[in-house]
Amino acid sequence: MFNQRIQRVAESLRQSGNDFLFVTPSADLKYLTGYQALPLERLTCLAVKSDGSSVMIVPTLERPAAEASRVADSGIELIDWNETENPYDKLISALGKVSNPLVNNLMWVEKAWHLQEVIGSQVHLANSVLSDIREIKTPDEIAALHAAGRAIDEVHEQMHLWLRPGRTEREVGRDIADAILKAGHETVDFVIVASGPNGASPHHEVSDRVIGVNEPVVVDIGGTMPSGYCSDSTRTYVCGTAPKQYVEYYAVLQEAQRAAVDYARPGVTCESVDMVARNILKDHGLGEFFIHRTGHGIGLETHEEPYIVAGNLKPLQEGHAFSIEPGFYIPNKYGARIEDIVTCTSTGISNTNNTSRDLVSL
Ligand code: ZN
Ligand code: ZN
Repeated sequence: MFNQRIQRVAESLRQSGNDFLFVTPSADLKYLTGYQALPLERLTCLAVKSDGSSVMIVPTLERPAAEASRVADSGIELIDWNETENPYDKLISALGKVSNPLVNNLMWVEKAWHLQEVIGSQVHLANSVLSDIREIKTPDEIAALHAAGRAIDEVHEQMHLWLRPGRTEREVGRDIADAILKAGHETVDFVIVASGPNGASPHHEVSDRVIGVNEPVVVDIGGTMPSGYCSDSTRTYVCGTAPKQYVEYYAVLQEAQRAAVDYARPGVTCESVDMVARNILKDHGLGEFFIHRTGHGIGLETHEEPYIVAGNLKPLQEGHAFSIEPGFYIPNKYGARIEDIVTCTSTGISNTNNTSRDLVSL
């Protein structure tokens, strides 16, 4: 599987007229090799050549870890460097002539800069060479995303156990984080518990604010499964009864989210999915309060291509996986968001999140 991915990269390099792609530890490296190295100061770097051959340099002390990850099974030649060698010189001399290289976007600037110096020509960002491949998920990857969706649904289903007036967002957040792990995730990636006015900040995390009676609470949570694939789902709760105006706004949001989910299918552009949700909020006077794009792709990273945003004319394709998460954010008052991760099938979409999208009263 990893060798197939490397061959697809090589094919893209041939098409774009580049001779090498350099990839340092990141989701990109994990995708191409299965090797999950930490991005640290010592150089670990995969070099994929346009002819399909590949070399990876690792610090000598990390060679056993690289071997254990079975990098060599994918046909990657492994070389190592000891503490006193210059890893950039060693890698480039092992490759021979390098003239028009790309680097993965997630490479540290420091490493790109050293590569550029040793190669003697400018490096360019790989951008779409990697993301065009990564964004189309295989059936195994789709299954992994659905498993992640089920795991995070399990956490939302238990929200009544933790979310109640008198507790702080931080206390509730800690219980949620424990539950994310218990539901099968390997790591907790984020926990947003945004009560009352904090709900108006889409990326609020948790605070010591005490949750009040009748306050809406936006809960956006996600983690990474042992498979490497991520979950991400938002539901909005109310401890008691929400204000009448809020309930009306929420009904509009629910309609907007449902309309975008019903509309998304292969062939429609990413921006048109955004427009479907946005137009409904606009028609009800909530357009100015929907301050972010409708969604993002998801896979080995929580945010990756394709982005569901105005200006993205890319058509959806079978294998795309992305969020549909419109919201409204009224400064100093409250906010709401409904977020599902969906995967694009040959005829429509399949939802990985299936808990109630109603304003759930706890
Ligand atoms: Zn999201
Ligand atoms: Zn989210």
